[in-house]
Amino acid sequence: MAPVMARFRFRVLVSDPLHPDALGWLQAQPDVELSVQPDIPREALLEAIGAVDALIVRGRTRVDAAVLQRAERLKVVGRAGTGLDNIDVEAARARGVRVLNAPGANANAVAELTMGLMLALARHLPEAFRAREKLQRYGRELQGRTLGLIGLGRIGSRVARLALGFGMRVLGYDVLPEAGRDLPIERVPLDALKRESEVLSVHVPLTAETRGLIDAKFLRDVREGVWLVNTARADVVDEEALLEALEAGRVGGYAADVPGDKHQTLRGHPRVILTPHIGAQTEEAQRRAGLEIVQKVVAALRDAATAAPRGGA
Ligand code: NAD
Repeated sequence: MAPVMARFRFRVLVSDPLHPDALGWLQAQPDVELSVQPDIPREALLEAIGAVDALIVRGRTRVDAAVLQRAERLKVVGRAGTGLDNIDVEAARARGVRVLNAPGANANAVAELTMGLMLALARHLPEAFRAREKLQRYGRELQGRTLGLIGLGRIGSRVARLALGFGMRVLGYDVLPEAGRDLPIERVPLDALKRESEVLSVHVPLTAETRGLIDAKFLRDVREGVWLVNTARADVVDEEALLEALEAGRVGGYAADVPGDKHQTLRGHPRVILTPHIGAQTEEAQRRAGLEIVQKVVAALRDAATAAPRGGA
């Protein structure tokens, strides 16, 4: 008996490293013709893009106007992760190309790293890793300390639950009244959160409003010696003002997973801990994000084909 032929065939290009389970799922789809080129150079991408129906990326491939201009058949761009910084979303929309991502897939990974950074500040872990003898200063415990969360979306909410498990008192602030509404935490205005928190953690996107949210003025009002954790985006914090606040002792420590312009200066500081954007870098998060995005992309291709079959086929 002849094999059942798929009605449509979609050409899908994967141009960044994707979890093997996600690639396996794509390979198993009868209507997908897959090309996997996880380190495709830009020139080759500009060549290849004209022939594909969908492009799947992570953070490496830059999908800008020049790429989109050549994307004659492209219907969908999928980002296996949250941030769309490497995709020109406006240019894609203008060409009728859907841009999809997998926003919740890495929330737990980033939230766990946030707790890790808090513990690293509290117990001087970088110093302890280097030390051969006991440290000369005591660490502090998270239990009983007041944590202020700015942003109660997917990551902030998950941090709230983990921090409650540590026995912290958790305060939360979000511009959306409904964000994190089911959390058993205290919702407070930003001013109160600033004054009361012993640990502050930011979980907002980078927007015109959040750029420099934690600036010199903000840092004047914080509780003396506050620890600041930033797994959101570097520019949410004015790092110039932060350095001053660290020097003045108003900020007791800064831990960030998001590289910024000032990181060369911050790196040598004894009360600063920096990780190179590893928040989403877990096996579980990459698998979840990969599977979610391939399924969304193929569903979108099938929808588009059913709604408007090419050439009446
Ligand atoms: P989300 O969209 O689920 O939540 C963001 C929350 O911030 C929303 O509830 C929103 O209402 C709130 N918000 C927006 N502007 C605000 C403001 N001015 N003040 C207070 N609250 C405000 O996003 P998420 O999945 O929780 O991710 C948060 C951020 O974490 C992302 O935007 C990204 O920048 C960062 N992130 C970092 C990594 C990493 O590897 N370190 C990985 C994923 C995401």
